[in-house]
Amino acid sequence: MSNPAVEETSVDVLAVAPHPDDVEITCGGTLAKLVKLGYRVGIIDLTSGEPTPRGTPEIRAAEAEAARAVLGVQVRLNLNLPNRVLMDVPENRFVLATAFRRWKPRIVIGLAGRTPAASPDHHQGHLLIEASRFYSQLTKWDDRFEGTLPYRIPFLVYATFPFDAEVRHWHSTFVVDISDTFEIKLKAVQCYESQFDATRFERVRHGLTGHAITQGSRCGFAYGELFALPSPVGTSDLVALVCGAKGTSSAPVALPNQPPPPLH
Ligand SMILES: [Zn+2]
Repeated sequence: MSNPAVEETSVDVLAVAPHPDDVEITCGGTLAKLVKLGYRVGIIDLTSGEPTPRGTPEIRAAEAEAARAVLGVQVRLNLNLPNRVLMDVPENRFVLATAFRRWKPRIVIGLAGRTPAASPDHHQGHLLIEASRFYSQLTKWDDRFEGTLPYRIPFLVYATFPFDAEVRHWHSTFVVDISDTFEIKLKAVQCYESQFDATRFERVRHGLTGHAITQGSRCGFAYGELFALPSPVGTSDLVALVCGAKGTSSAPVALPNQPPPPLH
């Protein structure tokens, strides 16, 4: 939902996906956790997600707003690009890049992956997010971005689909511990009653729980969400990377190759 009063503000982290409910399903626990940590978080839905059998644009907008409130995310915007036929084309890049220039995120979390048994919008959204990040920084094109100034987004992170077609070997994957926000994630997904009636929500809850346990347990967490980076992590200090950034935390990073704590 567009709120001009908040569009001009900046955010630390901006999560972008084609349909309302995509970010909740893939990274809702992480967004809720970021808010708890004090970061300013935004969500951009590229389309209304409509038409669907039991939804309307108004219902989906109300559900998205309810989910935003559950997650505690500060701002949410729908760009109203065309659902079902979303494409990575220049006109759509201009729209998303304009939002990037206004919100100036430090990190964009973009939904990524191919979903052959689900909407083709997901893969096109992935391409569109990458292209729009590139466009956001371009000079001498301000007229294509409603007069906004160029902005370079420092970091792009991929939120991965559990059912990505390619079972990718993503670069630099990492898992965020969402043990204390997993229930919030489920509550946010449950806001989309038009998409998940009681029976379907139980199936979704079952799948999301299994996936979060699987990813979390790889790093010793009760529940986790898997992310990836578009390039390998670089470091000049192996110890600092492995043990945690100097001066910011004494707690070690839970690396994927670190076994979970012993049970006894
Ligand atoms: Zn979707």
